[in-house]
Amino acid sequence: MRGKGGRGHGQFRANQALGQHFLSDPVLLDDLVTLSGIGPEDTVFEIGPGLGSLTEALAARARAVLALEVDPRLLPILAVRLHGQHNVQVVEGDVMTANLPELLGPLGPFHVVANLPYYLTTPILNLLLTLPLPVKSINVMVQKEAAERIVAVPSTPAYGPLAVLAQYRAQPTVVRLIEAREFSPPPKTDSAFVTMPIRDVPPVAVPDEALFFRLVSAAFQMRRKTLLNNLMPAFGLSREQAAAALKQAGLPDNVRGEALSLQAFAALAQVLSA
Ligand code: SAM
Repeated sequence: MRGKGGRGHGQFRANQALGQHFLSDPVLLDDLVTLSGIGPEDTVFEIGPGLGSLTEALAARARAVLALEVDPRLLPILAVRLHGQHNVQVVEGDVMTANLPELLGPLGPFHVVANLPYYLTTPILNLLLTLPLPVKSINVMVQKEAAERIVAVPSTPAYGPLAVLAQYRAQPTVVRLIEAREFSPPPKTDSAFVTMPIRDVPPVAVPDEALFFRLVSAAFQMRRKTLLNNLMPAFGLSREQAAAALKQAGLPDNVRGEALSLQAFAALAQVLSA
């Protein structure tokens, strides 16, 4: 996929394999900053500044912005565009491999605002939602389908590990739909901007988070299987042990993972960690 190009702004040839779909409408960009709730006290981490349009809008409102961009061709363009913006620091790097605690630690509590590279939406959100760092909110442009997966409720096709993690850590809301034609080059589908203020306290009690996340991942491993059948291999349980755990958590033994609410996942995690 790498190298598949597309027209971006001016002379720059967008690399769509890097998810390069740029925004340029200053009114829309300003709205995204407003929807993110960014004010003069806030520090922002932006993933993928691209040509710097959102970075510029953020810099005008935030105390400080740190932007991480993987494409080295964009660094000189960003340097020119952001020249004189003393509250912006642009760093070259890959968000998936960068040492984020080292990079972001000095910022103190920060907000994430980004028009995400869509090929990395789930890995980036998994990372941000599990980082041991003071993230105050995550505000991201994603494909409309990804937004549906983030806010999905149990027993719907979009419900999965991303919904459980996002709703456990944060309070996600789809705050705006954005048509593909707002981007250059336009992506294949429409997009949505999702805000996720991070919760101070999770909505359910989970004594062992690692086990909770292992359970959630196992529950959706084979969507057509019952939870009982997914639990046995994931936790090394016999059929009888798995059935007993479900019963103790108040769940029928033919339940499917996709039917479990956050509360039900937490109850089962408590039984399994006992
Ligand atoms: N913020 C710009 C805008 O709104 O116009 C660009 C957004 S574009 C959808 C995604 C950006 O993420 C691109 O600049 C791309 O090069 C960058 N990107 C892609 N993969 C990345 C990675 N692994 N780490 C950091 N940035 C990445």
